[in-house]
Formats: sequence, structure tokens, C-alpha cells
Amino acid sequence: MAWDFETDPEFQEKLDWTTAFVRDVVQPLDLLYPHQQYVPLSDELRPIVDPMKQAVRDNDLWGAHLGPELGGKGYGQLKLALLNEILGVSGWAPIVFGTQAPDTGNAEIIAHYGTDEQKEKYLQPLLNGECFSCYSMTEPQAGSDPKQFKTRAHKDGDQWVINGWKFYSSNARTAEFLIVMAITDPDVSVYKGASMFLVPRDTPGLNIERNLGLPGEPEADYSHALIHYDECRVPADALLGGEGQGFAIAQTRLGGGRVHHAMRSVAVARTALDLLCERVLSRTTQGGLLAEKQFMQGDIADSYAELMQFRLLVLYTAWEIDKVKDYSKTRKNIAAIKALTPKIVHDAVWRSMHAHGALGVSNEMPFGSMWWSAPVMAAVDGPTEVHKITVAREVLKDYEPSDDLWPTKHMPKQRAEAEAKIALWIEHHVGNS
Ligand SMILES: Cc1cc2nc3c(=O)[nH]c(=O)nc-3n(C[C@H](O)[C@H](O)[C@H](O)COP(=O)(O)OP(=O)(O)OC[C@H]3O[C@@H](n4cnc5c(N)ncnc54)[C@H](O)[C@@H]3O)c2cc1C
Repeated sequence: MAWDFETDPEFQEKLDWTTAFVRDVVQPLDLLYPHQQYVPLSDELRPIVDPMKQAVRDNDLWGAHLGPELGGKGYGQLKLALLNEILGVSGWAPIVFGTQAPDTGNAEIIAHYGTDEQKEKYLQPLLNGECFSCYSMTEPQAGSDPKQFKTRAHKDGDQWVINGWKFYSSNARTAEFLIVMAITDPDVSVYKGASMFLVPRDTPGLNIERNLGLPGEPEADYSHALIHYDECRVPADALLGGEGQGFAIAQTRLGGGRVHHAMRSVAVARTALDLLCERVLSRTTQGGLLAEKQFMQGDIADSYAELMQFRLLVLYTAWEIDKVKDYSKTRKNIAAIKALTPKIVHDAVWRSMHAHGALGVSNEMPFGSMWWSAPVMAAVDGPTEVHKITVAREVLKDYEPSDDLWPTKHMPKQRAEAEAKIALWIEHHVGNS
């Protein structure tokens, strides 16, 4: 009997350590130094954060997404998912544990496709937590439809010259380097004609026009760049992987990342449920606790049941990835959790925020940023609709059309088939007994 819903005791100890460490040591950073995670450590923060990173290393949890060949423990997606469920309560935790997006995905593709020189120059500092990186793919006129991408790169002697613009390139302002997708062969489909380039942030011709922020963020923290690449020249060896491999590389990057995002969103939904439960047990109205009102009981039941089913699907998907070791074969469930994430977060946060009344919508409670993570999750790494289309396509692969006018479960047809089967049974068994 192989079914099991328990974590092995050795890793459970690490999860328990992580829970206490994040709660007692890392989360205070969120309150005292909000939005500073993706900025190089200041003189004030370095003596605080570096020892935290060291404590994570000492517990064998630094860069837990990495395989042993890259200095990680090779925990696999399931353990990583359980870890991310804890890290998701804190904006700083992924930085302290060396598992922050987009650096995890960027490290993954450099490890997979990079040359030895590229690994030494870009991967090692990234793995050591010494620098940030950026993934520059979306364009202002097109995000989820790459067929409309326009950014081009052409060869000029022993250089590549990049021209075009990119939108929402997160952390470009603090990144040491960017991974840029550009079309290198416009005569074939973009899926075969786009390539990836490793571009140092200070390359002439890489011009950040402005940074966008999310609602409520202070202007100084805006971090999603609109970038113009104007005759931006990089050497031939800036090409990551082969020419035309851009989309194959992009797929490698996003598979695991979606599981991490989903588990961090489990943490957001769970925090919302925790706050909801505390609230309804603390607040009275109309002669009784909120917890005694059936509307509230319905909200608690919905938040709990939705959270549980979502969490189990995310864990199942992580387990499936570990088992088949091929993201393309687990596409259906990866897309399903990606499509579900914003709704789970939205509904759980909304119910909890609303139960807190006016206080809930104020800036003295954390619901604002929790709530914004729902629409962000619906857009980032491709919109919900696109993932639902993938789910449907994958689901339909397991089905055949009906072989005649009537559906398989059409009852007159089934009755005729049942009569034929029973007649056969009588002929073979009853007749012979
Ligand atoms: C916080 C944040 C960080 C990001 N960071 C990065 C980054 O670092 N690097 C990067 O390259 N990009 C980044 N992005 C961009 C992100 O990848 C894109 O937003 C995403 O791919 C969707 O593209 P779009 O915004 O252009 O929306 P569009 O593709 O224009 O889609 C707009 C809407 O149209 C609908 N839609 C789209 N396609 C379909 C369809 N097939 N059927 C039905 N309806 C559809 C959906 O409702 C969708 O929300 C980030 C986005 C956010 C919000």
C-alpha cells in the first residue's frame, strides 16, 4: 500500500525548524523592511540578513530547489512544495532561503543550457545569493501571445545586436544581468525562431524607460521595468542554448516555478483562513459571536474545503513531477493549479477581509497585499484562460468521440447493450450449469 500523506520524520524536522525560524526571525523583516527584498543588502541589513542565510545553510535548506550537482540537496518538487508552503507567509523568506523568483527559474535554465563560462559568470553568483537576475520576455503589445513579439536580435560580426522593447521585466533595476528573449529567425514560427540571451545590466543600449509598481506600493519600490533595447550589443557567446531554442528553454523555466507559486499561495489562503477563524471567535454582533452566524460558518467551510482540495492537487502535482521527471508530461496538472491559484487566494482573502469589516480594508491589516496577489497570480506566467485551455486540451487527449449519433451513456443504447451482455452470460454460465 503506497498511499501516504505524511512527510518523512527527517524532513518534517526541517519543516518544523523552518516554521519557527520564519515566524520568529524572518517575518519581522517584512514589517521593518518591507519591499526591500530585491535591493542589494544595505550596510544596515547585511549584518542582519547574512547570518539568517547562514542559519538556512547550516540546516541544509539553502537553495532547496537545486540538485546536488549545483550544491543543493536535490529534495525534489514535493519537499520543495512543503517548504514553500511555509515560506509563502513572508515576503523576505524566499530571499533568506535562496529560492526567490525569478532567480530560481533563471538559475535552472542557465544550469540546464549554459556553457561552463556562462555558469561561472552568471550561475555561481546567483546560487550564492550574491546577485539578482531578471527575465525579460513580455512585450507591451503582447504577453501571452508570443506570435506578436517584435524584439529582434541579428548577428553583426561576432556580436548579437538586440532591438525592441520589453514590458514588466521584474527586478531589472537591481539585476546584474537579464535573460532576454528575442527573435533571431523571423521566417519561421516564433516558437522555433526565438532565442535567449544573457545580457549584463550595464550593457550600452539597455535602457529602462520607467518602472511600474503595483497599487499601494510606494513609488521608490516600483520594480517592473519597461525596457528599450536600442542597438544593444552582446558578444556571440551571450546566446543561451542554441539559436531558436528560446521557447524550449522557457518551458524548462516555468514548470517548477508554477508549483512554487501555488504552494506560496496556499500559505496566503491559509493565513486568510487563520485570520478569519480568529476574527469570528473574537467579534460579537447582534447578541452573539460571528462564529455562530451561519453565513460565517459557510465562509469558513468554503475556505477550508477549497484550501484543502487545492493544497492536495498542488502536492499531487509536485509528487507527479518527481515521479515522471518531465514537465511536459505533467502539463495538465501544472496548468490546472496555475489556473486555480488566483481564485483560491481571491476567495479566501475576500472572505477574511470582509469579516474584519472596516479594519479589514484598512492599511493596518495585511489583506491589501494578500488580495493583490490574486490578480497578480492570474497574469504572471501567463493568464488563467491560457492555462485553462491547456488543461482542456490535455484532458481531451484521454477521450474519443462517440462512435455513433448517440452518446455512450444514452440509455436506450445502453439497455440494448445490457440485454446482449446478459444474454451472453446466460448462454455461457446459466445454460452450462
Ligand atoms: C507582477 C508581475 C510580474 C511579472 N514579471 C514578469 C517578468 O519578470 N518578465 C516577463 O517577461 N513578464 C513578466 N510579467 C508579465 C506576465 O508574464 C504577463 O502579464 C502575462 O504573460 C500576460 O501577458 P499580458 O499582460 O500582456 O496580457 P495579455 O496577453 O494581453 O492578456 C490580457 C488578458 O486577455 C485574456 N486572454 C489572453 N489570452 C487569452 C486566450 N487565449 N483566451 C481567452 N482570453 C485570453 C486574459 O483575460 C488576459 O488576462 C509579470 C506580470 C506581473 C503581473
